[in-house]
Amino acid sequence: MSALLEVSGVSVSFDGFKALNNLSFSIDRAELRAVIGPNGAGKTTFMDVVTGKTRPDEGHVLWGEPPVSLLGKSESKIAMEGVGRKFQRPTVFEDQTVQDNLMMALKKSRSPLAVLLFKPETPDFARVEELADVIGLDAVLSRKSGELSHGQKQWLEIGMLLAQEPKLLLVDEPAAGMTTAERQKTTQILRDAAKTRAVVVVEHDMDFVRRLDCKVTVLHEGSVLAEGSIDHVTKNQQVIEVYLGR
Ligand code: ADP
Repeated sequence: MSALLEVSGVSVSFDGFKALNNLSFSIDRAELRAVIGPNGAGKTTFMDVVTGKTRPDEGHVLWGEPPVSLLGKSESKIAMEGVGRKFQRPTVFEDQTVQDNLMMALKKSRSPLAVLLFKPETPDFARVEELADVIGLDAVLSRKSGELSHGQKQWLEIGMLLAQEPKLLLVDEPAAGMTTAERQKTTQILRDAAKTRAVVVVEHDMDFVRRLDCKVTVLHEGSVLAEGSIDHVTKNQQVIEVYLGR
């Protein structure tokens, strides 16, 4: 079986500067992957390419089974095909309750055909409760999202993305600004989410990556510098030099 996402030979230049330089790597279905690298390594540009925000100068981005190219597709089309992206800052509707936020996300996920066939206004409370349980917010369903902690808002947004049942979820620095307990919970949410879909976590925090306990891809100057377990990559001399600065 082929990979879910195959990035091969992708290069992106900004004013002659190569943000991605012949980048190649692949992500399997139901895989948790951490993508790490120093500032400017190309992590954001990689996510921009996969989500259709940036078009590469060279290379291929293949997706699904049978593999089709994502290049040239709009951001909304790529999202509809099952690529979800979570930006660093949580974007939830602060004046709405947790339940309403999840409900809105569920409604958004319904195809026009499903809306025609089933009553669009039918609230799917069971699914909302299931999602709230997955993200650990079942006890605060009726609370306004604006009253949640930073960590809880991040989980809510992950839940809203999961409501749309992505095949691939790209998550940008989910642990930033979280307490130790929140980071532990986030690890569990992401690991659980990756049981049924691919989850790619772009992260700076090595302790957090270690806890994710997954394959790690290290980017540097727009290419893959090393790949493997966290123990494997952190023993790599080049990684130590460029990433850990030793
Ligand atoms: P990371 O997310 O790993 O910090 P980025 O993908 O944001 O790295 O950036 C890679 C390189 O490309 C950086 O040197 C950055 O300054 C440059 N870059 C990214 N986006 C642009 C842009 N829109 N215009 C010019 N340079 C950019």
